[in-house]
Amino acid sequence: MTRHTFWFLSMLALPTVQAAGTPAITVHLFDLAGVPDAVLAPSIEIATRLYADAGVPLRWVRQAPPVAKPGQGTSFRAAVTPTAVSLRLLPKHVSDRLIRPGSTKLGIAYPAVENDYRYLASVFYDRVELAAAALDDVSLPVLLGHIMAHELGHLLLGPGAHARETIMACPWDTNEFRFVKRGRLGFDKRQRALLRSQVAARDKAAESVAGTRQQAAVHGGA
Ligand SMILES: [Zn+2]
Repeated sequence: MTRHTFWFLSMLALPTVQAAGTPAITVHLFDLAGVPDAVLAPSIEIATRLYADAGVPLRWVRQAPPVAKPGQGTSFRAAVTPTAVSLRLLPKHVSDRLIRPGSTKLGIAYPAVENDYRYLASVFYDRVELAAAALDDVSLPVLLGHIMAHELGHLLLGPGAHARETIMACPWDTNEFRFVKRGRLGFDKRQRALLRSQVAARDKAAESVAGTRQQAAVHGGA
């Protein structure tokens, strides 16, 4: 092993060590659009890297599309805990129902229910495909990865998250596309700090929910 290789490996190992104490967010992924693995796998990798750069580990869990229960509708909530969110990749016929014709929206993040944490976001996969096809030098996996990261950002950063020249820009203009082509569109320093504190707060809330459940189980068993 050369000295250079050693340094390179040491640098690779560093983020893992630093991330050990950082709470992770579990992303339950519902791919209703049937995105090919050759597109989805690199997209997930890009979104994961953007959050790792902010000090937030993402853990992805692929979920089968839920089955609607009569009278109850369909739930995309795979786990009721503040540290779990759900991301849906929607096909054209669903996107058409949710967005107006001519809209340039590529995704949506839903508000929290009552005092709960925001947990559900959708990406309009057919619209992302069209947008990527119209762009020079930005591939479909790169665009999809960034849009997934943007919508997850809405869930984790809270209201008023849009900010120019960052992954949270909306809509993207020439600057953002220039940054994305260079692989430099991400969260800025303020967003990274906010993400870490919001995720820590979710983690604390998840622990207290788990503690309450455990107490309830003990009392229930007594
Ligand atoms: Zn947005």
